[in-house]
Amino acid sequence: MALIVQKYGGTSVGSIDRIKAVAAKVKSWSERGHQLVVVVSAMSGETDRLIALAKSIQPRPSPRELDVLLATGEQVTIALFSMALEDAGCQARSYTGSQVHILTDSAHNKARIRDIDAARVRADLEVGRVVVIAGFQGVDEQGNITTLGRGGSDTSAVAMAAALKADECQIYTDVDGVYTTDPRVEPRARRLDRITFEEMLEMASLGSKVLQIRSVEFAGKYKVPLRVLSSFEEGEGTLISLEEEIVEQAKISGIAFNRDEAKLTILGVPDQPGVAHKILGPISDANIEVDMIIQNIAADEKTTDFTFTVNRNDYPRAMEMLRSTAETLSAKQVLGDNRIVKISLVGVGMRSHAGIASTMFGALAKEGINIRMISTSEIKISVVVDEKYLELGVRALHEAFGLAGETAA
Ligand code: ASP
Ligand code: MG
Repeated sequence: MALIVQKYGGTSVGSIDRIKAVAAKVKSWSERGHQLVVVVSAMSGETDRLIALAKSIQPRPSPRELDVLLATGEQVTIALFSMALEDAGCQARSYTGSQVHILTDSAHNKARIRDIDAARVRADLEVGRVVVIAGFQGVDEQGNITTLGRGGSDTSAVAMAAALKADECQIYTDVDGVYTTDPRVEPRARRLDRITFEEMLEMASLGSKVLQIRSVEFAGKYKVPLRVLSSFEEGEGTLISLEEEIVEQAKISGIAFNRDEAKLTILGVPDQPGVAHKILGPISDANIEVDMIIQNIAADEKTTDFTFTVNRNDYPRAMEMLRSTAETLSAKQVLGDNRIVKISLVGVGMRSHAGIASTMFGALAKEGINIRMISTSEIKISVVVDEKYLELGVRALHEAFGLAGETAA
């Protein structure tokens, strides 16, 4: 018998029929003798609908009141879901975030969970009830309702699993697991049986948007085994766990990419202490996140060139700032390109294997894809290329690293 936390997202509970279908699934888990805690999202589209309502009154709604409003989406689902369970003959109880005391800080609309009092949930589990909890919401020290940011139910589920020391946290969604890359780009992409927390963080932050990133960080920190699986099909899904638990580690787990990139270059800045700080200081003060940074060797030993990437949305603002920095530093020129993408090879196995980078660069060269920037970390190699090469590049790398598995190729 195991204690399992399951989370069902908006599409999985998007209609009464779906709620009933999911309740039947939960019931069968419970009948097999498992203790079950179910965390649910608002029915699909509901959170967006509520946000639109708020904006029809205040263009920038009061964060506190917005949380009061948004929390109702999940409250509707928990009640309907518990009714469906009861109707199927399965004892259940629903709770809002504040009732089970998901204590958060007071940062409305993006609160962080601090503590959970699991006693109430445990008491219900002990008498054989399924406990249904509203995801995405909590309560601060003053009793104000808070929400955790879009997609936050994933984090609620993981936090609940950590607090209960659950055997597994299962995230049910509309895909059947984590893939070697986005199947819309490479139809031969394969579902991974296992992946490490570290790899999943890279895959998620680089565009494989299966899980809220914060939930993966949380799961890694508290060592909660996390499984992503489909609400609609049977299957094992993908288990996200610690590296030690993965027996046969592939060199490369997957290929992530990000389309929302832009790069900026400042040419001919004085090569002296403090210049990098002068260039990036204003950018970071404006809360613009910088990803890759490259500074060249000064060919004439007096000036250097400096390139960095930002999110495409921040490109116009960053460009404006860089132009004014260029004037102060008497730089030669400012260049920019917002039609670039980043493609990354991800794998904890690459730590111990030389030659991965050269295989990667070779595969891209063979397709005539010019690499504009390169950066590496322990478990990742990223390249920036022109936007038009995204699909071709991803497919070439998928092939070069044999990710389609034995059946294909
Ligand atoms: N209902 C919230 C949202 O749509 C939270 C979630 O689904 O995880 O973002
Ligand atoms: Mg979601």
